[in-house]
Amino acid sequence: MITIALSKGRIFEETTPLLAAAGIIPAEDPESSRKLILATNRYDVRLIIVRATDVPTYVQYGAADLGIAGKDVLDEHGGEGLYQPLDLQIAKCKMMVAVREDFDYLGAIRRGARLKVVTKYVKTAREHFAAKGMHVDLIKLYGSMELGPLVGLADAIVDLVSTGATLRANHLTAVEEVGDISSRLVANQASFKLNRTQLQPILHAFSTAITK
Ligand code: ATP
Ligand code: MG
Repeated sequence: MITIALSKGRIFEETTPLLAAAGIIPAEDPESSRKLILATNRYDVRLIIVRATDVPTYVQYGAADLGIAGKDVLDEHGGEGLYQPLDLQIAKCKMMVAVREDFDYLGAIRRGARLKVVTKYVKTAREHFAAKGMHVDLIKLYGSMELGPLVGLADAIVDLVSTGATLRANHLTAVEEVGDISSRLVANQASFKLNRTQLQPILHAFSTAITK
């Protein structure tokens, strides 16, 4: 049995055509089903529905053979025990630094000010600011980072941005790019060696179906 770990929402939606290209059709829609294990049309493939941030953990420990997770999530996880064979080019966005519209970010950097930054991505943010030689105090949040600078919790946020509509609605502006984000296929390293004959065709179908 091949187990593939996915999160519902945008990753499930954007993965559905790739799965179809590999001849895998989920038996149910995770948005309407409460089941956490979904059968597929293939007797030897099942899907498990987990939180986006938990995908690398299930694959790392071999509870799933394959998983699909954002680069943001994989960078924070560290990628231990994971083989990352494919950039699926889905769920694309950017990791950005953003501040209040009235905050002088470049001025603060020039003065060498110590910035307070809220983010869900503490490891990524720490590495980004360290590479720039900036001193920051990082505060971990689990959601709605945009609120931080509005209520005096922080000077800046590090978060994912796609259209920028949420930033604009909250009078924030992106000032710096941390990196490009897309979702990646990850495989458990041991399982990939052991089940190569079953996994290789799925990988091949995905890589052929990726829209560049
Ligand atoms: P939850 O929303 O349940 O708290 P989450 O934010 O981790 O969890 P999603 O919103 O489904 O889950 O995001 C899953 C992945 O999709 C992220 O890890 C990221 O790689 C990508 N993603 C997030 N936001 C966007 C976006 N606005 N545009 C494109 N891709 C995004
Ligand atoms: Mg989300």
